[in-house]
Amino acid sequence: MNYVNLHCHTAYSLLDSIIRIDTLVDKVVEYGQKAVAVTDHGNVAAAVKFTKACKERGIKPILGCEMYVAPDTRWRKKYEKIRTGEFDATTQKEILRDAHSASHLILLAKNEVGWKNLCTLCTLAYEEGFYKKPRIDHELLARYSEGLIATTACMGGDISVHLKAGLDVEGEGKTEFDPWLASMKFNFYVQHFGDDFYIELQDHGEGHVQDSINEWYRERYPDEMFIASNDCHYLTAAEYDVHDTFLCCNVVKHKNDPGRWRFPTTQAYLRSTEEMEQLFYPHELENTVKVADKIEFELPMTGTWFIPKLHKETLNGQTPEEVFTRECIAGLSNRLHGKEDPKYKARLDFEMAVFIKAGFCEYTLILWDLMDWCRRSDILTGDGRGSGAGSCVLYALGITNVDPVLRDCPFERFINPGRLENAAPPDVDLDFPQSRRPGCHRISSPKVRREQRLSNWDVCDTWRFRAHTETRGSIRHSTGRSKPFVPLGP
Ligand SMILES: [Zn+2]
Ligand SMILES: [Zn+2]
Repeated sequence: MNYVNLHCHTAYSLLDSIIRIDTLVDKVVEYGQKAVAVTDHGNVAAAVKFTKACKERGIKPILGCEMYVAPDTRWRKKYEKIRTGEFDATTQKEILRDAHSASHLILLAKNEVGWKNLCTLCTLAYEEGFYKKPRIDHELLARYSEGLIATTACMGGDISVHLKAGLDVEGEGKTEFDPWLASMKFNFYVQHFGDDFYIELQDHGEGHVQDSINEWYRERYPDEMFIASNDCHYLTAAEYDVHDTFLCCNVVKHKNDPGRWRFPTTQAYLRSTEEMEQLFYPHELENTVKVADKIEFELPMTGTWFIPKLHKETLNGQTPEEVFTRECIAGLSNRLHGKEDPKYKARLDFEMAVFIKAGFCEYTLILWDLMDWCRRSDILTGDGRGSGAGSCVLYALGITNVDPVLRDCPFERFINPGRLENAAPPDVDLDFPQSRRPGCHRISSPKVRREQRLSNWDVCDTWRFRAHTETRGSIRHSTGRSKPFVPLGP
């Protein structure tokens, strides 16, 4: 029997899963499964690392995300407070939580359109729907459903959440048992995702709550809609306690705090095909393979750079190289107040040749346009930090304000002329005041078609051994005496 895991969290489900990508894919190989999906909470940050790991081991990578869905609209950021009946150990006050403010939904990218829609949904969830979690809503789903496969997720799923009477959804409040609303939502997903909408059946030993949800679905819907699902957050059953400690770090609670957040199960580990066969009907396992076969998308790993293009009006019949050369020469002449200086000219000519050969003209013109717009809009900008201060081209274009000829700053630290083959565009540190960053992101310049071509970079930090030991100690009520014995290194 074949089976593919379509619901799996890696360490990029921050402070929620302890699964490392390499060990995940190794385990999938060991279990003889041909594909696996990664569905981290609210982000697709694992995509590149995961795709590479799968390609190396001959496994088909499936990219997805477990999205958070707002109960009504993503714009609503205020919810009534409800009493939980628990007391905070430190303040001795009753805990008040927001009423249900987000439920779960799994989306998998079927093709390139789907992948782009998934990225758009993740971005909008942060930009427009953020309330404790990055949230989307049905309006966005209706708009960006093309190319995506949707599945119902866990007990906290957008539909399932209405099928569990008054139970807690991962510490996010309580919802009423409301099968009518569950049916209405079900119809919404069928309407927008059609054959690409599936019902996840889970069994991690949660008991009667999950069983009654599974029953509710099985009684009403056809067999081809069901997929067996294993919502895993750690790799083996033995890692349950490590993961449980990890959850304490997430909510900053002591491990012996009776009211802290816990998983409703001790079995959220990656299961083998044989284990899944014990829990589900054969067609529910086979359907996971059918879903995996539908996926046609694989993240391109070409190492090619996709630089945005300039507007036709900006080019005015010229090539980007010609515009670049023209603006550099005009900029330098401006800097030198119309005087000619062979030293500057030689330096500029040399640098321009390097930029043109490396194919960085359009990239540099984008930076030029952005800085030009900032200065015209009275946005404070930096004068040039780091190796960029050694470039006469950047100085001429006004991207930096440091004269590299006068200050004797070397250009080679910025771009190495000896290594131009498929070189990455050089880093240029642009400094803006924090308060003006959104404006800098959103400008829709007449020169560059920048709209929808912006990408935000994210950095995921990991705990080093010392910090990890310290955090673990405090979670376990330890006195922290071991800390001085832990070296500072990695
Ligand atoms: Zn979930
Ligand atoms: Zn999940």
